[in-house]
Amino acid sequence: MEKAKLNRRESSVSRVVKTKDEELFLQAFKDIFEKQQFFSAVPEKEKSPLLQELIKNINDYMGEFIVQYGTTPVDIKDKHIHFVDRSKATESMKEEIDGARARGVQATFFPQRQGVIIWEGYEEDEKLELATGLVHEMFHFNSFHAYEKSEDLADKRPVDAEICIQTEGVEKDILLRGRRSGLKVFAKEKDIYFKILDEAVIEELTIRFSEEYFPQIDILSKELEKENQQTRDLSLEVRRKFISRYAYDHERESLHDLIDDVYEKNKDSFESREDVFNVFAKAVLGDRLLPLARLIEKTYGKGSFRGLGKKTVDSARESLAK
Ligand SMILES: [Zn+2]
Repeated sequence: MEKAKLNRRESSVSRVVKTKDEELFLQAFKDIFEKQQFFSAVPEKEKSPLLQELIKNINDYMGEFIVQYGTTPVDIKDKHIHFVDRSKATESMKEEIDGARARGVQATFFPQRQGVIIWEGYEEDEKLELATGLVHEMFHFNSFHAYEKSEDLADKRPVDAEICIQTEGVEKDILLRGRRSGLKVFAKEKDIYFKILDEAVIEELTIRFSEEYFPQIDILSKELEKENQQTRDLSLEVRRKFISRYAYDHERESLHDLIDDVYEKNKDSFESREDVFNVFAKAVLGDRLLPLARLIEKTYGKGSFRGLGKKTVDSARESLAK
């Protein structure tokens, strides 16, 4: 039986608010998504057929996987993934590349550019690690994104998008300020609330995806077999801690503690810890922040959701790290 064709989002951006021209701006993001013009200055390595196949496989399976979290997937093709070639970079680009590498960032999704940069070169025998990194960034790509129109053009942050649109026959540059990317809420003063929580949820999704679909991706089978041999006697929980290609250990541990606690205090409303995790995942991928806010406030009292946002803040004054 042929599979039903999935509905796909036209870019990662679902909402542009504080404007009557939302449709125009969404169209502009679609254009950025398709043309990838904001990466024209990035010198790129050519992708091998294997790599192209890997990206295609992940995109296909991810479309299938994320509908359970209440969102419409984005159709990510290999043109959306930019592998940097440092040897061909300009001096300023080299600085940017070295900066990312020095911070230990291997890849970054840029919502304002609608694409991913892979900063570090990957070896052909490290496909499993590359695939894991790709999945992580592709979950960011598939997260809920919202912008708001700003009259104030000053103080542009790295997450903001400058968009040129035509209204009443006149071309105009407009600043769209990032509001949300997944769980991340961009505050005016450049702090990013919930950033750490967002990364933890994204990596937990990456782990679930990798456990379910990597065994079906032929290119990964050899490395996966080796890893399985090393981890076959471990319980699922220990395995997830042991496997080094999974990132954000500490952040994930904090998330687990939070989920355990929320579950213990709301056992009447949830059948399992995974059901609690799903509330977080839906807040990241779909426009479902309110149910999570309500759950946190119900568990810890009024104002606690805001408090959680502050506790998991991360300032990104110079970049949108990993
Ligand atoms: Zn990330």
